[in-house]
Amino acid sequence: MARLLIIGCGGVARVAIAKCCQNSEAFPEIMIASRTVSKCEALAEELRPNTKTVIETAQVDADNVEALTALIKSYGPDAVLNVALPYQDLTIMDACLAAGVDYIDTANYEPENTDDPEWREIYEKRCKEPGFSAYFDYSWQWAYRKKFEEAGLTALLGCGFDPGVTQAYCAYTKKHEFDTIDTIDILDCNGGDHGYAFATNFNPEINLREVSAPGSYWENGHWVEIPAMSIKREYNLDQVGDKDMYLLHHEEIESLAQNIPEVQRIRFFMTFRQSYLTHMKCLEDVGMLSTTPIQFEGHEIVPIQFLKALLPDPASLGPRTHGKTNIGCIFTGKKDGQEKQYYIYNVCDHQECYREVGSQAISYTTGVPAMCGSMMMLTGKWTTPGVHTVEEFDPDPFLEALGKYGLPHQDTHAPVLVP
Ligand code: NDP
Repeated sequence: MARLLIIGCGGVARVAIAKCCQNSEAFPEIMIASRTVSKCEALAEELRPNTKTVIETAQVDADNVEALTALIKSYGPDAVLNVALPYQDLTIMDACLAAGVDYIDTANYEPENTDDPEWREIYEKRCKEPGFSAYFDYSWQWAYRKKFEEAGLTALLGCGFDPGVTQAYCAYTKKHEFDTIDTIDILDCNGGDHGYAFATNFNPEINLREVSAPGSYWENGHWVEIPAMSIKREYNLDQVGDKDMYLLHHEEIESLAQNIPEVQRIRFFMTFRQSYLTHMKCLEDVGMLSTTPIQFEGHEIVPIQFLKALLPDPASLGPRTHGKTNIGCIFTGKKDGQEKQYYIYNVCDHQECYREVGSQAISYTTGVPAMCGSMMMLTGKWTTPGVHTVEEFDPDPFLEALGKYGLPHQDTHAPVLVP
């Protein structure tokens, strides 16, 4: 009997858990454990009447390795799915090692306070590597490779949509379409509208930190770093239409550059409306995106956490969000000596997701791959001791599962290339 322990009970967790419950054969028993246990209990109660999956709940502070290890040991899962926040990645990996279970997450580690002197010292040393100053990167979790290998355990990093499915698209393209890949452009478009002047569609703190960071891309074996939002392209996306998209740093570029070594360039673009960018710039200029604690009327507050409390909860956007997402990868490369192009993508409708699981498409496109990746692990299809990213595994069973559970792909061999 396979058992999965799921940590976190926010927007992405809701979808991953609802999808496990649609798939009781692979997930006969799950436990939802999070900081606020009442959220876990409410979700379990909502799902129990329509599933054969046995759902248990627990309270846990995932920053506390000892408490987490004790919980893992007492429940005895085969794997732990981390859908809490990237801040908890390392503590949950430590607890998995201590308890001897496999690990899965959807976003790479980043420190909660980027002004923490101990972290800053490590970070500044790393920044000496030219052209790369992202504070979220794989180095922290790749440092666990030997420990997981020696323990005979698998850690699967970044199994959401991007990172996650985008890397499975790369592995699929390499396996079925190309002998060598020359360039990869990852295009992430949320064409949905929630009707608010400003809201983020996943955790605001993580989202705003990601998009306000300097951009970077991989070219001819090196990082090229650019000021945030300084490269803009227009693109017409299937079923969404014309959008402005901006080059961002994104974690999968780092692992893809290692795992597809012949690739000459990898870029990541995300679409934004002008209104989103104007709000973000203003919030940044007045210091609201800062992670450094300040004193306010005798209380210590972290500006970005205060902002999070003011913004709509992404989990509440479901009923209001209309429109579609379109996320995928455009490749150029060679097959049998011939130049070739290929575009593989998924289109997901916000309202259809809401009708099915009560969430908008951003949580859906992350939660479904998290469930499918957990299934690959529990069914023994993706188990190689060590710390791995999605492109390192066979993409076929994963893409088949994605199609079955709500994220089928489309493709074309004649895409418009991004200049
Ligand atoms: P939410 O803020 O909605 O949910 C986070 C959950 O984690 C909450 O339930 C929260 O508890 C819980 N949590 C936070 N800290 C702790 C802790 N110390 N101990 C236990 N539980 C804790 O976030 P999202 O669901 O929007 O995002 C979840 C993850 O998915 C993030 O890592 C995000 O970066 C990632 N993501 C990945 C994407 C991809 O495509 N790869 C896309 C979108 C998101 P509480 O309820 O008490 O606040």
